[in-house]
Amino acid sequence: MNSLIRGIATFQGSVVPGQRRMNRQLVRDGQHPSALIIACADSRVAPGHITQAGPGALFVCRNAGNIVPRASDVVGGVSAAIAYAVVALGVRDIVVCGHSDCGAMKGLMNRDLLKRMPSVAARLRHADAAERIVCEAYPEQDRHHALALENVVVQLANLRTHASVAAALARGALRLHGWFFEIETGARPAYDGARGRFRPIAEADMPVAETSYVGSRPRAA
Ligand code: ZN
Repeated sequence: MNSLIRGIATFQGSVVPGQRRMNRQLVRDGQHPSALIIACADSRVAPGHITQAGPGALFVCRNAGNIVPRASDVVGGVSAAIAYAVVALGVRDIVVCGHSDCGAMKGLMNRDLLKRMPSVAARLRHADAAERIVCEAYPEQDRHHALALENVVVQLANLRTHASVAAALARGALRLHGWFFEIETGARPAYDGARGRFRPIAEADMPVAETSYVGSRPRAA
């Protein structure tokens, strides 16, 4: 905790003075993030850090396993964050970001680890389809890594069940992305929905999981 307190002091003493103009602007103009990122709560996977996005750029929702409950199952923090980001903030992109060495995915593969954490076990049932996919379609030695990837794809499918997301996709006003962050190397492949696989992100070539994006023009126009 002492290191956190020292960090706060450094922030107030050294960082804030250099950001006063930006901070005033953020208050005056409000927030206008272009993207919602739903990431794991893992301390090694910080959305602002891995995207180098500054204050105001990202609307962030984090939980163990980057889980997105289907709209019909649970009304909770993730559902509210999605609706607020899409309807109130008008984000143009939603990213579901999984990662390597994910403890939630380890729990999903080994339910004994979850016996003393029933709330975590209950949340992870929203990833049951990913577990089933890897158990039936991947060799045993590949399953943990594959589970974290397949979980991103399953959570993207869950995301589409939310009315705000479905409506924004229908309007041609939203793109969905599935990212995977390799902690050790910093690599970050993204899911290419058209090809059905993850591939590297290049600066001018961002794989997209799903898009009907046509700016503000209705899709059917
Ligand atoms: Zn994780």
